[in-house]
Amino acid sequence: MSEGNHSQPDPALAPRGHHTRLLHAGAARLHEGVGPVNVPVVRTSTVRFDSVETLADRQHRRAAQERVPTYGRHGLDTHAALEDALCELEGGRRAFLTPSGLSAISLVLLALLGPGDHALVSDSVYAPLRRVDLDLLQRLGITLEYFSPHHDDLAALIRPETKLVYLESPGSLLFDVLDLPALAAVARDRGVPVAIDNTWSGGWFLQPLALGANISVQASTKYIAGHSDLMQGAVIVDSDDLARRIGTAHEALGLTIGADDAYLALRGLRTLPVRLAQHQANATAVAQWLHGHAQVSRTFYPALPDDPGHALWRRDFTGASGLVSFALRGADAAAAGRFVNALRLFAIGASWGGYESLALVAPPDRLRAYRAWQDPAPVIRLHVGLEDARDLIADLDQAFHRALR
Ligand SMILES: *Cc1c(COP(=O)(O)O)cnc(C)c1O
Repeated sequence: MSEGNHSQPDPALAPRGHHTRLLHAGAARLHEGVGPVNVPVVRTSTVRFDSVETLADRQHRRAAQERVPTYGRHGLDTHAALEDALCELEGGRRAFLTPSGLSAISLVLLALLGPGDHALVSDSVYAPLRRVDLDLLQRLGITLEYFSPHHDDLAALIRPETKLVYLESPGSLLFDVLDLPALAAVARDRGVPVAIDNTWSGGWFLQPLALGANISVQASTKYIAGHSDLMQGAVIVDSDDLARRIGTAHEALGLTIGADDAYLALRGLRTLPVRLAQHQANATAVAQWLHGHAQVSRTFYPALPDDPGHALWRRDFTGASGLVSFALRGADAAAAGRFVNALRLFAIGASWGGYESLALVAPPDRLRAYRAWQDPAPVIRLHVGLEDARDLIADLDQAFHRALR
């Protein structure tokens, strides 16, 4: 059983580029000079030890926060390789694996907040977080307060009992870009940790821990998995103190994932950069086409030069992913529904991050929760997949003709 760093101890690789490091992080080891490219799937519940002394030693080291498995729930080689690769991806110190993106969010909230505590959450956050608040956190005496980073002064909202600032950038549905370094600096001055949902960037186009965030949350279900065949989440932290606090709650909640799923996420990570580059190329073509369309009043895609978040996106991100939203001009909800129903290549469905294109009508109540956009126009959210961009544009074009004329 291997522990700690799984990558080949080749110092020549250490200073190389981000692609190289991501591709080699968590690589399989050679045994007696021979081995596979990929780390094996190590399925187990029981971990065996050669003596009671070894078992006691590992339990002792685990209690001291060392990453040593003593039981299958802690994961073995496959899990450790994925954790290493996620730390490489996000520039993190430790990574924790969870069965879904939502459970990664809940883990952060439960680990860092207790009765009487208060947290500030940006108002374009992934909407199911609000259900965690209503269904779980309120019962525990925890208060979440939603704020608009575009209107409110974070410094004025932080109270003595504020224990967490939770952000998402770009936000869900309308992809508003936040000034993460500025917000993180305000929180850091007051000793409040900052968590950010980094799912939009896949962890590749944004390095939030380098910009001042302390915790990055990934719905690995999306771009890391990349093939719409996996549910998984991850929490990546920048310090030993946060690793201890998140790790304690992770253990208490019994969160774990299967080795097969860890393997799939690791496989997805190897091609994340090339997939994202193609999502970006296709989404940019689609967004530009929508932007010039007479029946579109607004296109939401930070890589468009006149998007309000464009300057921040250029400064902080290295690319844009496949999510594009747009508001329909002079159309009602029924027309928006007809438009989505008329699409042939875009499947109708939630989630995103796979190779395929998706569309849905953004739920109006979720849009209303976001203060910076109070326009009643219906909004369609697309996930632009890896098909040919011209086929996707032709599909949108025929849907406009069939549904809205
Ligand atoms: C989908 C999503 C999640 C939740 O991930 P699941 O794996 O579906 O639970 C969290 N954050 C964002 C931004 C998402 O899009």
